[in-house]
Amino acid sequence: PEGTFYRDTWAEVDLSAIAHNVRAVQRHIGLQRQVMAVVKANAYGHGAVQVAAAALAAGAAQLGVATLDEALALRAAGVRGPILVLGYVPPRHAAAAAHHAVMLTVVSARHADQLASCMDASAETPLDVHLKIDTGMGRLGVRTAEELLQAAAGLSRNPNIHLRGAFTHLAQSDAETLDFTKQQLQTAAALFDLLRQHVPGEAPLLLHAANSGGILQVPASHFNMVRLGISLYGVYPSEHLRSRSLALVQALQLKSRIAHLKEVPPGTPIGYGSTYVTRRATLVATVPIGYADGLPRALSNRGYFLVHGRPCPIIGRVCMDQTMIDVTDCADAQEADEVVIYNDRTLPELAGLIDTIAYELLCAIAPRVPRVYH
Ligand code: PLP
Repeated sequence: PEGTFYRDTWAEVDLSAIAHNVRAVQRHIGLQRQVMAVVKANAYGHGAVQVAAAALAAGAAQLGVATLDEALALRAAGVRGPILVLGYVPPRHAAAAAHHAVMLTVVSARHADQLASCMDASAETPLDVHLKIDTGMGRLGVRTAEELLQAAAGLSRNPNIHLRGAFTHLAQSDAETLDFTKQQLQTAAALFDLLRQHVPGEAPLLLHAANSGGILQVPASHFNMVRLGISLYGVYPSEHLRSRSLALVQALQLKSRIAHLKEVPPGTPIGYGSTYVTRRATLVATVPIGYADGLPRALSNRGYFLVHGRPCPIIGRVCMDQTMIDVTDCADAQEADEVVIYNDRTLPELAGLIDTIAYELLCAIAPRVPRVYH
């Protein structure tokens, strides 16, 4: 990704913003707690290897990914430091995980049993695991005290599997009302206690629940580690937290340059399906970014890009590789001028316009868009 590229469309990633956000969160939660940097989905589109290195250097204690493949890609790139796979991994891959010192998440009592059977009890490297508890997400994890103890007992059948922690995931921690989150945390705290009583390990279990919403507004969710995802990238999990929590710095800006400018008369159709027809003499700028770059086609005739800081509406449909904008009101626009697609102002606004979240827009930025780090 780093190096030469020949099309003027790129994502700028400021790694010092990543470091700033890790440190801000570490100060906020206190030094006695650990930060896990969640770098799944290619670090929310930012580049997993670069972000992982920056986050670890800034003090993150662990990395979180969604899949074993993501974890192994980090290891292959030379990333050290503890990595937990947050998603389900089929038990037959236990040995591969252990071999690369990757921790797995146990999602049920059955999964615990299967892992205990699959994992070579005499393998040189043991398998470290965290147990997932479902307190209201309805996704992965044990739901009851009974199943929790059954999972712990299942794991203990294999001396080469070490239970290192337990965690749950909050479904509404970014909301303005936190009743559901409080309920989830009550359940989690009780099950964490039970587990602690039944697993008298050498080291205390690592217990965690907080995602960005929890980190920013629910201190009771901090336990002894937090999982920092969207806020690592300087993006707020919901808009009301922007003004009411930590000052984060957005790391990514998606940019392009005007490829072609033309003035067209009123009544000129623009783009596929001619869904837009100019109503006045219009200065049309063609920008070399499209849905194959991850720009949602839903932004057709709805979104805008910034030219010289001014919002210029998308006219017509977003194409696969190009998009047209109306720069008539930006009279000093020139070919080759910079166009800002996502920055800290437009990313949440564009997401809102098409009824999605900044997370999805970031993860959608396609591999063909070069990432430029500074
Ligand atoms: N923990 C788990 C299990 C997740 O799936 C995610 C992301 O979806 C996170 C933490 C990070 O959440 P956020 O990006 O809201 O901070």
